[in-house]
Amino acid sequence: MATTRRNLLKLGGLAGLGLVLLPVGTLLAGEAAGATGASAKGDRKQWAMLIDLNKCQASAGCRDCIGACHAAHNVPDIGDPLADSKEEVKWIWTETFAETFGDQADEYMADELKQKLLPVMCNHCTHPACVRVCPTEATYKRPDGIVAMDYHRCIGCRYCMAACPHGARSFNFRDPRPSIREVNPAFPTRERGVVEKCNFCAERVDVGMLPACVTACKYGALAFGDLTDTNSAIRKALREGYALRRKPDSGTDPNVYYRV
Ligand code: SF4
Repeated sequence: MATTRRNLLKLGGLAGLGLVLLPVGTLLAGEAAGATGASAKGDRKQWAMLIDLNKCQASAGCRDCIGACHAAHNVPDIGDPLADSKEEVKWIWTETFAETFGDQADEYMADELKQKLLPVMCNHCTHPACVRVCPTEATYKRPDGIVAMDYHRCIGCRYCMAACPHGARSFNFRDPRPSIREVNPAFPTRERGVVEKCNFCAERVDVGMLPACVTACKYGALAFGDLTDTNSAIRKALREGYALRRKPDSGTDPNVYYRV
C-alpha cells in the first residue's frame, strides 16, 4: 500500500524530532503505514505480536525490549519491581511462565519452563474488557485493533484495571514526571491519577515503523504484523508452530502470542 500523504506528513513531524534515520529492521515490511484506518481494501486490521520464548533472553537478564519501550513512552521508573510495588508503572514487564500461564501449566511441567521469564504487556484484545467498562471512553479500540488511551479523558476510576484479566494496566498514584529518566518530547507524559499501558507503539505503527520493543530485540524474538494480512510477519510466524495466548478462557481474545 502506498504511503499516504498524511503519513508522509507524520514522518515529516518525526523528522523534526530526529527520528527519520531508520535503521534496517525498523520498518513494517510489506505492511502498510496508515494503520489507524482501514487497509487499501477497506478491511479492518488487527495488529498482533508473537514472542518466541526459544529466542527470548529474559531469563538471562535481557531487558532491552522493556528499556526501549519505557524510554520511548516516558514510563516513570517508580518502585522496586522485585518488591511488587503497587506504585510501579509498567508497559512491558517480566513474569515467569508459571505466573503467566498458570492455567495451562501442570505438575509435571519441567521446572526450567515454569521458572522461565517472559515479557508481558497489554494484549490489545479483540474483545477488550477495559474498553467495555470505561465510563468516559478514555480507552477505545482503534480500527486497526490497537487498544488506545486518551489520557485527558481518563478520570482515574480504575474500572479498567479491575476489568483487565491480564493485569496490563498501571495507575499513577503520584506525579510520574519526576521519575522519568529522560523525557522523550515526542510522546506525552502523564499525570497523577491517570491509568496507562502499552499502546503497541501506535505512534510508530502509524508511520510504518515497527514497535520499539520489536526493533530493540537483537535476538529476533518478537514478530509483529497485521493478522488480517496472510503475508504479514505475524501470520508467517504463527504458521511456523503452535503458540499460546494468556487466559484464553477470559473472553477477551488476546492478540499477543507466545511460542514455547
Ligand atoms: Fe484491555 Fe487488558 Fe486486553 Fe489490554 S490486556 S486490551 S488492558 S483487557
